[in-house]
Amino acid sequence: MLSRRHFLELSLLTALASCTSPGDYSGDDVERLERQKSDESAHSGKGPFGPLRFRGYHGLATLPYFRVGEDGLLHTVVDLPAVIDFHAHLGWSYFLAPTVDLQRRTARTEYLMDCDAQDPPCGLDLDVYVNANFTDGMHRSLSWQTISSLWIGSRSAATHTIPNLLAEMQAAKVGQAAILPIAINLPLSADATLQVVDGIDKAGAKERLIPFASVHPHDPNKRALLQQYAHRGVRGVKLHPEMQRFFPDENGALEIYEECGRLGLPIIFHAGRTGIEPEFMRPYALLRRYVAGIRQFPAVRFVLGHAGARDIEDAIPLAREHDNVWLELSSQGVTRIADLLDKVGARKLLYGTDWPFYPLAVALAKVLIVTENNPEARAAILGGNALELLKPSTSS
Ligand SMILES: [Zn+2]
Repeated sequence: MLSRRHFLELSLLTALASCTSPGDYSGDDVERLERQKSDESAHSGKGPFGPLRFRGYHGLATLPYFRVGEDGLLHTVVDLPAVIDFHAHLGWSYFLAPTVDLQRRTARTEYLMDCDAQDPPCGLDLDVYVNANFTDGMHRSLSWQTISSLWIGSRSAATHTIPNLLAEMQAAKVGQAAILPIAINLPLSADATLQVVDGIDKAGAKERLIPFASVHPHDPNKRALLQQYAHRGVRGVKLHPEMQRFFPDENGALEIYEECGRLGLPIIFHAGRTGIEPEFMRPYALLRRYVAGIRQFPAVRFVLGHAGARDIEDAIPLAREHDNVWLELSSQGVTRIADLLDKVGARKLLYGTDWPFYPLAVALAKVLIVTENNPEARAAILGGNALELLKPSTSS
């Protein structure tokens, strides 16, 4: 089994890597990522909120915001303003894998970082970039889940369904969630956008789940597809330079931004390096590659997912200098979120969770901690800003 696993993994990574050029990825880029990781771990618990370490996800119930329900979910026990999660996904299946049944309710959701599935649960530190909490075993399991979602279907992906997400939203008091597909240009893959749009329609969940679209910059049909998706009611577009293997400043990507400008759709990028992706993917996510599009299309609204991830230092000036740039907070730790509030301002920040990597409550806990004495910022970050962004833009 293990050798088959390794064979699949290797053959897929080779296939992905073979058509890659490293671009301008430098020794300095490599060093900056390493420095970010070590600085962050050295400073964990020494910021304005002190140490925030929990025993797994259920440990978050020691905060005044949550209790663990009989359903095993974290239930929010405080009043919240309207909450919109700007970054969630449903179960992935690409290439040869059978489609995930998005309508199925299962007993529990297997998160891609499944802290509470092990005994003892993994330590959860809210003062570091969230993937620093992954154990080695989880990394192995994640890469296996990713590979198997392409080839044979993954067991965890089968739990990343609409009823599971809705139940968790209900418990956490999250009113709406933007559902982000990612278009992968592998043969035989189903249309990731239509899976999302049709799934939400079928579930009758339009009030709660906001469909986004995704197209591939190398797809000659991308403009027509975007028009078709807009017609089906998508409210924005998700692009993932690392997974889709394109540079955000290449021509095919600029054409997408132009079309989104015409259609009035905001774009959310995966932006920056997370530090756990395969090395060959990292050149695609460097923040300097996002500048050209942001400058060239000032009427297009760009959201940098994960606030630039571990390249957050390069994302901050972009959000400060450009009226058309917002930062989505999923994965960042509390000290960094407080820093963003200070440097970028509450109006530019968006609550996002990256469900089903983690429960909705993880990102929620962090925003609540940082905005404890600032109800105005809390309302803007949790939902107010997202509501503005999701309004069809008047430009065109
Ligand atoms: Zn994501």
